[in-house]
Amino acid sequence: APPVLELRDVSVSYRVRGRAVPVLNGVSLSLGKGEVYGLVGESGSGKSTVALAVQRVLPPNGHVSGGQALVNGRDVAALDRAALRRMRARDVAMVFQDPGRALNPSLTIGRQVAEVFEILGSPHGEALRRAESMLERVRISAPARVMERYPHQLSGGMQQRVVIAMALAKDPSLLILDEPTTGLDATIEAEILDLVDTLRREFGASILFISHNLGAIAGLCDRVGVLYAGRLVEEGPVRSLFRAPRHPYTAGLLRCLPRPGLRKDLSPLDTIPGFPPAPGSIVAGCVFAPRCGLADDLCRRVDPPLVPTGEGRLSRCHYADRVDRLPHAGGRPAALRNASGEV
Ligand code: ATP
Ligand code: MG
Repeated sequence: APPVLELRDVSVSYRVRGRAVPVLNGVSLSLGKGEVYGLVGESGSGKSTVALAVQRVLPPNGHVSGGQALVNGRDVAALDRAALRRMRARDVAMVFQDPGRALNPSLTIGRQVAEVFEILGSPHGEALRRAESMLERVRISAPARVMERYPHQLSGGMQQRVVIAMALAKDPSLLILDEPTTGLDATIEAEILDLVDTLRREFGASILFISHNLGAIAGLCDRVGVLYAGRLVEEGPVRSLFRAPRHPYTAGLLRCLPRPGLRKDLSPLDTIPGFPPAPGSIVAGCVFAPRCGLADDLCRRVDPPLVPTGEGRLSRCHYADRVDRLPHAGGRPAALRNASGEV
């Protein structure tokens, strides 16, 4: 069977004031059946653009300038209108950051969830019954009561459960979660992540889980891809990537994870110094070099390719084997100063 999702060298640009600004640069990744793939990167790295390109729902000024996205082996660019509609109605479901925007404020929860089943062919009564049982499956207690409510009468966490129920009602082969917990408070975030982890086993959908937070991805994903300035800079199985990152950017993200016993505001090294390049700017050599503690002349001259580094891992760094000298989650912050001073 073909992968559920495959991106082959996908590039996307947005037209801004007459100029095409590239935001994804040759992104390739693949998701097998039942696999959970975490896509991580800071704001603006292109994560949502990946999700939009998969469903062919880029904004009007967005344009896939190269490569292909395949869902269940079918190139989405080649789908006709009916096939595209079918893909969006059944094969691929998306959940976004703001559940309030995904719900219709003037319809009850029951109507909205039932409608998904009706679109897929269930008669009204059956659709209502299935809606109720779907709400139960996303661990909403008293679903019959919740069905009578309007979205604004529910908390953000409850709204997101409803949105997830509507996504799963399609029984999709691919579920894309784009920062589903951003904006929810930490306890609710943990509950939603826990829910997704349970549902992945019950439903067997492949999941593309998008987040700017490696910590959220840690317990949930099988594999992780790290996006930086529109490029995949590292990919690998989640445990091995966490234990030993092979790209300095990943090491930096791990260093940014809140550590137990250390309050965020007391930790001066909890962000990566500097900024990513402005979209569309031309950078000689490695895009991460200006922020990198390992960068040297080679890095500033030659853009490193994404290459296998063993154990099913890929890294886009000339010095992948030296990244362990940089501190990461467990590392000592002081070592960073030594590393950037020495190299
Ligand atoms: P975030 O974590 O903030 O959601 P992201 O990784 O999802 O960020 P994208 O939304 O994919 O990033 O955006 C990638 C880049 O493309 C950013 O520089 C963004 O400003 C730009 N961009 C996104 N949408 C458009 C648009 N419609 N027109 C022009 N530029 C856009
Ligand atoms: Mg986004």
